[in-house]
Amino acid sequence: MYMNLLNFISQYPDEESCIIKFKETREQIGITCSKCGSGKHKWLKKRIEFECKGCGKRISLRNGTILEGSHLPFKYWFVAIHLLTSTKKSFSALELQRQLGHNRYEPIWQMLHKLREVMGKRDDRYQLTEIIELDDGFFTTVTPDKEKGKPLKRGKGSQRKSKVVVLVESKPLDGEKTKKGKQRKVGYIKMIVVDNLKGTNINEIVSNHLKGGSVIETDDSKSYKTLRDLDVKHQPQVIPKEKVNEMLPWVHIAISNAKRLLLDVHHDIQPDFLQNYLNEFCYKFNRRYFGEKLFERLLTACVTEFN
Ligand SMILES: [Zn+2]
Repeated sequence: MYMNLLNFISQYPDEESCIIKFKETREQIGITCSKCGSGKHKWLKKRIEFECKGCGKRISLRNGTILEGSHLPFKYWFVAIHLLTSTKKSFSALELQRQLGHNRYEPIWQMLHKLREVMGKRDDRYQLTEIIELDDGFFTTVTPDKEKGKPLKRGKGSQRKSKVVVLVESKPLDGEKTKKGKQRKVGYIKMIVVDNLKGTNINEIVSNHLKGGSVIETDDSKSYKTLRDLDVKHQPQVIPKEKVNEMLPWVHIAISNAKRLLLDVHHDIQPDFLQNYLNEFCYKFNRRYFGEKLFERLLTACVTEFN
């Protein structure tokens, strides 16, 4: 179960309760003074700052976290983290701006993108293992008019396709089948936007995101030929078009679910931000059994993953 809205409101009813929680989160992780290296700090409640007990240097509560540089109240961040970790699909910055009753779009949009960046950084720590289905997908994005030397009009731009490499841990089940009749069980997933599908790009992704010795299943595309240079067991297969959902089942389910979600919620995605939306999709998918703990996890990552 996810934390529901009423629980969230009763735990974090106002700015002060959010500040206290954020302060406690930082204290749990530990604060180190950048001047003298001391780990002991006094809390200055009125100033919303820590003061180093060693040298007296002050550190604002936002400093060194995802909130650094943001002028939005803590409660906005808490609402955003709550919604990002409790909604099954997603929501647009415009929707959140309306719900918060905030007068400007840009800061809300930036806040959500920073949170999605953190989700990506958190998932980057995990390397896929055992059997991995690998394929690429083409996601619809837009090129803003300004990139073509024309003045920018919000929401206007020409469509193009962005290339995404998708990796899914997919373990065979002995004898049993999942609900949808699949012979495999899905673990963690990753989606990585790339400029092109050349072997060097694919190899770099595989070396960074997979544990050595993993088994990789792909089709027989040219992009995957150089995988043999790596410490993985590559199993390319000639896959007829009509068999693709059968032979690499989970990677195609993941691609089509992500495409549908992006299309439903976000319109006119710019190529530079596609990775962030995919980060959110993968982060939620990878933690689909975390339940209420997910809020705290993302809050912690807002402190630990931002430097
Ligand atoms: Zn100090």
